[in-house]
This record gives sequence, structure tokens and C-alpha cells, in this order.
Amino acid sequence: MRVLGIETSCDETAAAIVERDADGCGRILSNVVLSQIDDHAPYGGVVPEIAARAHVEVLDRLIGQALHEAQMSLDDIDAVAATAGPGLIGGLIVGLMTGKAIAMAGRKPFYAINHLEGHALTPRLTDQIDFPYLLLLVSGGHTQMVLVKGLGDYERLGTTIDDALGEAFDKTAKLLGLAYPGGPEVEKAACLGDPARFLLPRPLKGEERLDFSFSGLKTAVRQLATSLQPLSQTDVNDICAAFQSAVADTLDDRVARSLALFRRRFPDVAAPALVVAGGVAANKIIRDGLQRLCAEHGFRFIAPPMALCTDNAAMIAWAGAERAKQNAADPLDIAPRSRWPLDLRSAPLIGAGR
Ligand code: ATP
Ligand code: MG
Ligand code: FE
Repeated sequence: MRVLGIETSCDETAAAIVERDADGCGRILSNVVLSQIDDHAPYGGVVPEIAARAHVEVLDRLIGQALHEAQMSLDDIDAVAATAGPGLIGGLIVGLMTGKAIAMAGRKPFYAINHLEGHALTPRLTDQIDFPYLLLLVSGGHTQMVLVKGLGDYERLGTTIDDALGEAFDKTAKLLGLAYPGGPEVEKAACLGDPARFLLPRPLKGEERLDFSFSGLKTAVRQLATSLQPLSQTDVNDICAAFQSAVADTLDDRVARSLALFRRRFPDVAAPALVVAGGVAANKIIRDGLQRLCAEHGFRFIAPPMALCTDNAAMIAWAGAERAKQNAADPLDIAPRSRWPLDLRSAPLIGAGR
């Protein structure tokens, strides 16, 4: 079957067509993403109103482009899947309404997808991987460790109690006068810096719970930067290196505990796997650290290609294709949700309240 996927939850407008064959293997026929980074860059972060308007302007064209690249028309699509949450409500409304309209006009089944479920199922599109597995999602809006037990069966083991990791990178970059998005800038500066010159805190390290916390780290960066004014380029590089090493060290601790917990919960899984997703997964130090940790603990380390780690619509189409296998299409009066924890199964209907 072929599924059209639509993603508009944050600052990427995306449309894709994914095919799922009878054996359950997936193939991406097209995957178009338009980032709004340039629209938001002057503000140092995503502005919800600007995001929603930008989605409205380009979504139709993007869907047309996805169809064109897959060399098909809407008639060739078997189902439509759109992100229904979590995310910025204005953007969600744009994508969800468009998806519903296409499904309704073509009398096709419609799937309202949880954006996090899209990230969680991506490795089943790119790699041969069976449930259960562990997912570390580290993006601009989310930082979560999730136990992916089966389709629609997710258990959040830990989450950030304050800032998301990508957000911490972005805020640190802003404090140091670096450009937005901050992750790549901090990484570049860190490569040139000395990680041993400053020691920054490792929030929640050593604690039994599997949550994350990054706002204290950001505050420590602010205090350090204030004490060093005016900042030289060397100072900036060294602070970035110290920040990145504190982050890597914290992740190491949190992830090692999660791997151990997975072993206890699923002692019979012969080849356990950790999957990483989200924009922060682009960071080489973080990626290398996770890879080493997995090797030490006998886990497979799976990092989908970068274009599928960050926000995209192929993952939404794929989640729809996986859901279609269970034959449970969603009603068209399903409502968008700005908050929608992954372990809560379905989106509410319009009028059912939040
Ligand atoms: P969501 O949380 O809804 O998935 P998002 O758009 O914020 O949405 P992504 O597009 O997956 O998330 O990732 C963007 C984030 O990843 C930004 O915060 C960015 O700074 C961070 N990032 C990108 N490259 C790197 C890098 N090399 N090192 C660290 N962080 C990075
Ligand atoms: Mg993004
Ligand atoms: Fe995302």
C-alpha cells in the first residue's frame, strides 16, 4: 500500500509518499521537506504564528511535489496520514485539515499520527528491526527515552524535566553570540576548544530515575560567560567544548541505566537495539558516545540517516502504513493536540475536550 504523509508540527513543512509491501518492508517513493529556519533565524527560535502561516503557504505545493517525484497522482494513494500532535497548534491544524480533506475527497482511510510515534517507528522503515527496542529521542522540542514494545505500545522511561537537549544547545549558542540553530554552531566551536578548561555540572547524573535536565547546565554557561566578559573566541570555543562534554557525559549515564533496565525487562531479547532520533543525533561526539556505550553493553546502535532523524513526512507516512496493517483508520473528527504523550493511545475527537 502507498501512504501520503504530511508533517507540520514545528518548523518544517513536509510531504512524503511511502510504500509498504506485503512482507512489511518499506520504501520511500518521495520525501520533500521545506525548512523554515531562515524565517525564524532573526528571532533566535521558532515563532508559532510565523510557522503556521508558512505551512499554509507551501503545503499544497509540497504535496504536489511529493506526488510528482513519486510519479503518481492522488488516485494512486491508498491512505493519508498527518501529524495530529504534539507540536505548535497552528501548524498542526494546517497539516491535519489538509490531510483530512484529501482523505475525505478521495474516500481513503485517514490516520492521525503522533509525531513521536513517527520518530519511534522510523528504524522499522530503514532497518530490519523487531519490537521491543529502546528509542532515545533528542530534538529541539523533545528529550525522551522510550521503550518501544510494539505498535501503539510505548512506555516513556524518562523525559526532560525542563529544557529539551536541542533547546539547550540553541540557548547556549544564543548566550555565546552564535547563530541559530545553535547545535551545529556549538559543535563547530567545541571542536576547536579545550573541554578541560571549565567544568560544567552534569545534571541528574547518578540518579536512579531516567529523566533528563538541562536548564541548570544552561544557567552555568550563562554565569561562566558573564564572569569572563568580554568573551574571546578561545573562551567561546572552550565553553562550547565544556558544554558538549557535560552533555555527552550526562547522556552516557542516563543511557547506560536505560540499557541495563532494558536487559532486566527483556532478558530473552537476543540482539537488543538502541535507536537514536532527533536533530541532536547529528552531533558527532554524542553519536560516537552512544555507539561506544552500545558496543560495551552488547546493544545494536541504530541511527537512521540524518534526513529521517530530523522532522520529515516519510516517518508519518510510515507510521500510517504500520497502523493500516492493523486496519484501524481514525475518524475524521479527530482533533489536533499540542500536547500528546506517546503512551496515550489515541487523539481525542473534536469537542471531547483536552
Ligand atoms: P521536534 O522536537 O518537534 O522534533 P525540532 O524541529 O526542534 O522538532 P529537529 O529538527 O529534530 O527538532 O532538531 C533540531 C534541533 O537539533 C535543534 O535544537 C538543533 O540545534 C539541534 N541540532 C542540530 N544539529 C546539531 C548538532 N550537530 N549538535 C547538536 N544539536 C544539533
Ligand atoms: Mg525542526
Ligand atoms: Fe521531531
